[in-house]
Amino acid sequence: MQIPCTAREKELFGCVAEAARQVGVPCYLIGGFVRDKLLHRASKDLDIVCVGDGIALAHRVAALLDPSLKVNYFRNFGTAQVRYKDLDIEFVGARKESYSRDSRNPVVAPGSLEDDQLRRDFTINALAISLNEADYGRLIDPFDGLQDMQNKLIRTPLDPAQTFSDDPLRMMRAIRFSCQLGFTILPETFRAIQDNAGRIKIISQERISDELNKIMLCSKPSVGLDLLYQAGILKIIFPQMTDLVGVEMVDGKGHKDNFYHTLQVIDNISRHTKDLWLRWAALLHDIGKPATKRFEEGHGWTFHGHDAVGGKMVPRIFTRLKLPLNDKMRLVRKLVELHLRPISLTKENITDSAIRRLLFDAGDDLEALMMLCEADITSKNKAKVKRYLENFEMVRERLKAVEESDRIRNWQPPITGEMIMETFGLKPGRAVGDLKNAIREAILDGEIPNNYEAAYQFMLLKAKELDLTPVK
Ligand code: ATP
Repeated sequence: MQIPCTAREKELFGCVAEAARQVGVPCYLIGGFVRDKLLHRASKDLDIVCVGDGIALAHRVAALLDPSLKVNYFRNFGTAQVRYKDLDIEFVGARKESYSRDSRNPVVAPGSLEDDQLRRDFTINALAISLNEADYGRLIDPFDGLQDMQNKLIRTPLDPAQTFSDDPLRMMRAIRFSCQLGFTILPETFRAIQDNAGRIKIISQERISDELNKIMLCSKPSVGLDLLYQAGILKIIFPQMTDLVGVEMVDGKGHKDNFYHTLQVIDNISRHTKDLWLRWAALLHDIGKPATKRFEEGHGWTFHGHDAVGGKMVPRIFTRLKLPLNDKMRLVRKLVELHLRPISLTKENITDSAIRRLLFDAGDDLEALMMLCEADITSKNKAKVKRYLENFEMVRERLKAVEESDRIRNWQPPITGEMIMETFGLKPGRAVGDLKNAIREAILDGEIPNNYEAAYQFMLLKAKELDLTPVK
């Protein structure tokens, strides 16, 4: 079996073969690396399985490759890892796994290569290539994984119901592979996922979110998210998302299905960025809609304030999904909160002060915000889409012009809180905040120019209204 390999990979395989010969264990390349190579996809993670002691093999390989290489190993699991240049190599002894319904962890015992292939989740992940002298390079494919690869099918080597019940994360992996590789999940396999969806509850949130993020990073995340929904998994792991599903009708008037609209927005933004967090912002941009939905007589459906409500939901959702509660979360929140602002600037008679305010509020994230807003245009009416995009182009130009003249982006007002406290002999407190805000608002509204002198004079005037006098 010829698989396309780099010179470094060939050197490594030769070395593993020699080490296995010296240790006296048969060994094989297996799993995701074989799958990806056959699909001509790049992969830097290699799995080597040997019929014997994987840790001993790893030490011998490291000694042959470069004696200074470090071997990380875990006696309890019988696994070892070596990092060689840009390759991550994992060694494991072939094993048999059996699960009992009451425990999440399998009982593991040493086994044959076939036992080890049987414990793998999908036929396309169970392919092995021999690294042994007698049949070096032979593909060992007991479950027709190669055929499934050609037919672009996701199928389990064993009974699917058993496979998913044993380790329910495999359901999300099936969906992720389908989305990532453009493969179809065999109908009976998918039915088994639907039947076992409830078992996802026994999986840790970290592993679930890890798979969710891998789906989010696919070129068309909508495929995986829709499969998660169809499987009944999304409702369990992310109910706020399934709350977006559906169209309600009153007096013959409906609104758009916010779930499918959201999926389209994610696909749209994914054509322009690989940034996971901008994709999360697209996923969450309308998350406040179910909570704010109203039917107003004579007006139709409204979602007033869904931007602010959605923004507030972001930290709660991140906490529940165990996503990072850091500047990435704050970026997603900010984009959700601001996602209607550029659209509101496409109306007529927009003042410079509204433009200045958006520059100030968005700061460095303005480009990301504009990208989200453009992705949010999902109308099927081509003329409408064209008009919206042209409007956004105008907004971009106005933003550019105002920024060039006023330099508001990432700007700090010329008078700081410390200056105010010093001038009036104040301690930190409400009055300082009020004065600072008044100065900022006056500049953003264009009432006074953006410079120290004007801001100082304005501060003195405002202070008088508050009965404050300078101490020097
Ligand atoms: P990726 O690197 O994109 O996550 P992968 O298939 O290489 O894909 P790994 O998690 O590195 O995924 O797993 C390596 C191999 O281990 C898989 O190809 C599969 O054979 C096996 N495997 C991983 N997770 C499971 C699981 N939950 N159940 C059964 N086999 C699994």
